[in-house]
Amino acid sequence: MKAAVVKETSPDERRVALVPDAVTKLRSAGIEVLVESGAGDRAWLPDAAYADAGASIVDAPDIYRTADVILTVTKPSAEAVSQLRPGQAVIGMLAPLTDPELTVALAARGVTVISLDGLPRTLSRAQPMDALTSQSNVAGYKAVLVAASEFGRFFPLLITAAGTARPARVLVLGTGVAGLQAIGTARRLGAVVSGYDVRPASRDEVTSLGATFVELTSAVSAAGEGGYARELTAEERQAQTEELAGHIARQDVVITTAQVPGRRPPLLVTEDAVKAMAPGSVIVDMGASALGGNVSGSRPSETVVTGNGVTIVGADNLPATVPTAASNAYSRNISALLEYLTADGALAIDTSDEVQAGVVITHDGRVVNQDVARLVSAEPPSKGGVADVGRATD
Ligand code: NAD
Repeated sequence: MKAAVVKETSPDERRVALVPDAVTKLRSAGIEVLVESGAGDRAWLPDAAYADAGASIVDAPDIYRTADVILTVTKPSAEAVSQLRPGQAVIGMLAPLTDPELTVALAARGVTVISLDGLPRTLSRAQPMDALTSQSNVAGYKAVLVAASEFGRFFPLLITAAGTARPARVLVLGTGVAGLQAIGTARRLGAVVSGYDVRPASRDEVTSLGATFVELTSAVSAAGEGGYARELTAEERQAQTEELAGHIARQDVVITTAQVPGRRPPLLVTEDAVKAMAPGSVIVDMGASALGGNVSGSRPSETVVTGNGVTIVGADNLPATVPTAASNAYSRNISALLEYLTADGALAIDTSDEVQAGVVITHDGRVVNQDVARLVSAEPPSKGGVADVGRATD
């Protein structure tokens, strides 16, 4: 089997799907590795390092002509999609629930789509493949550094001959993987940290990191399926944002990470809450997206300063800004998945397996993942079933 690493095409994407160490490992598992020239450059991983590890350095047309499996970090470009052949597989973080059109287009071309974002994360055998966790860890760490560099004061308590600086107050909203990493990082920088989440289970995780858990009188238990949060009702949302506003007004820095799978990120910091913050405060919105984010007025990949002097950073792709660490971790996740899916030198697709049922999105011209099939088809799919999207006859 030939697995190929493509150069990411999105302008701000600096990660690469495999690092040279993984090439050595995959080759010893009998998988030949092709790397598009320059694929690792922006993560400081030159072609020579891949060649030394035993990869063949090739140009993009060779990849699409000869590879069995294409390994990517994010979605392939329209140009790449047009070069993919029936029977080829693409493995990456392809966001099929937020971009079902791409999935349908790839299914129609007979491409097998495998997406790491569908992994059932609570299965212990899936943990080495958990790219959402590895990338959220990177993002949570970097969010704090971004906040600290935008903030006009120190994070720690500093007592010097020139006077005493009080520590920054940092609130983290959404304390899943990224939020907990943000809490740990902000604590290590010396800030006074608090956290809040709608999943009651997160309280102990927050306090065990030395932060305070924010208790709301309007608190609801919104634990959903698979350890994720469910979407709040309109009344719950209103009670939450109103009560949170009082806590937000007292913070120097707010970092938001809240997500609900397959839905637009919940709004946690309203316009009124931003207006109540002091000049010089900083908000980093990791939920920022084209659909809207956790913070009123945030814009993905942009930093805005409000009329009352609050800096809002729309931090939609922080892992790409720590490209070497993020690529190292992602490379371990995607190699583990590739090896898991390989038997006798070829991909062995079997969606009766729980891991595969989550990650295999299309196969043999059809959408085979239940959640994505439900999204793209008016009719709910039959049991074990599929949505037929009309495979192209090329
Ligand atoms: P996520 O990125 O989907 O969301 C981030 C956080 O936002 C979550 O903690 C969620 O509860 C919170 N959130 C959603 N709506 C909110 C709202 N209205 N107000 C406040 N907070 C809100 O979550 P994640 O980081 O991917 O983690 C999801 C879950 O998966 C967690 O329970 C985590 O512990 C679990 N997990 C388990 C494993 C494992 O068992 N190996 C691995 C990774 C994650």
